[in-house]
Amino acid sequence: MSKFFKVAAFCLCIATLNTTMAQIETSISNGQQNSLIDLSSVDKFFEISDKTSLNKDISEDEWNDLFSTLGYSIVGFNRVRRTIHQEMLMVAFSDNQQIKRDSILNLSTEDLQNDMITYLARLTLINFLDIKENQKELRLFRETYDFDAIKKLSVDRLKSFLIQPVDSLIIFPSIALICNEWGAWFSPSGIAFDLNFFYNSTEEKRTNTLAHEMFHTYRAKFVNWNIKSSLFQVLNKIQDEGIADLINKTDIESFMELGTPQEFIDFFVSTYDNTPQILSDLDVIVRSFINKEISEDRFNEKVENFEYSGHANGYYIAKLIRNVGLMDELLQTFYSPVEFLKLYNKAAKKENIYVLSDEFIKFVENLEKEQ
Ligand SMILES: [Zn+2]
Repeated sequence: MSKFFKVAAFCLCIATLNTTMAQIETSISNGQQNSLIDLSSVDKFFEISDKTSLNKDISEDEWNDLFSTLGYSIVGFNRVRRTIHQEMLMVAFSDNQQIKRDSILNLSTEDLQNDMITYLARLTLINFLDIKENQKELRLFRETYDFDAIKKLSVDRLKSFLIQPVDSLIIFPSIALICNEWGAWFSPSGIAFDLNFFYNSTEEKRTNTLAHEMFHTYRAKFVNWNIKSSLFQVLNKIQDEGIADLINKTDIESFMELGTPQEFIDFFVSTYDNTPQILSDLDVIVRSFINKEISEDRFNEKVENFEYSGHANGYYIAKLIRNVGLMDELLQTFYSPVEFLKLYNKAAKKENIYVLSDEFIKFVENLEKEQ
């Protein structure tokens, strides 16, 4: 399976390209965050889908208007994504596109596996068809739902999760609802949330998803971003997503999204189940680097292959730590990937599963100290 699919599957909080924590910090310190729930992307989408249903042409200006709304800017629509979006909107909402619709829906997992564009197109089409099917309910929801009420609920959820939270650092993000594939996206200017996904979630799930995203921004204030090592970055992501997932996931099923092919579900589940083995493989790589058996370039290349978006392995480790009764320790050290691994080792000893070597722990401790 290509690296794209390893990363693409089940990333609920995909940062858009070029997003760095420094940008987020700047965005926050400039006071750009507010509680606005932006619906302009959704409104433009429905304008265009209404015209498409009547077989009317959409002008270039109308498309440009759609993609310049806040939600689409947060996701970062490049030319390829724009084309996918435009074509799938036509395929879903025109009444003369049945053959194309069926041919995309009938693609096999093998067809999709090495074709990122078709994979995204199919996910988008599946969501658009669902939006079309439920458009009456979605429009009513857009008119009647109290979007502001969720702010207090999600802030409270994050506060109750943390030990001694610093209230001033809990930032409620700007949120834009969009019609895209099923998911949510995060950038310095806010979170874009697919309307259909938002609508189909319970109030508790919406609250918890937002608290998960706020946790990332909160944690970013405490992390040492000067550490450039690829290994450290992978471990950092694993800790960040693993702890955040404890806020909004109840089990492995909670990661499943509409339209995700079975093979990707299987890949995610096996990555989760095989966490001790994956850590053992990582340990071997680190020790061969320490013993000068592989070059730094080769080491970095191998390490980067362990980045499965952080969720599967992170969630496994965080749950393991919680299950052996070390939740307080987990939350007290939520900003330190090294402490996360030390807690993993404590839990792994109890559970009789793979324990990371002392050399590995010492190596990452030194990475943290050197900066
Ligand atoms: Zn996340």
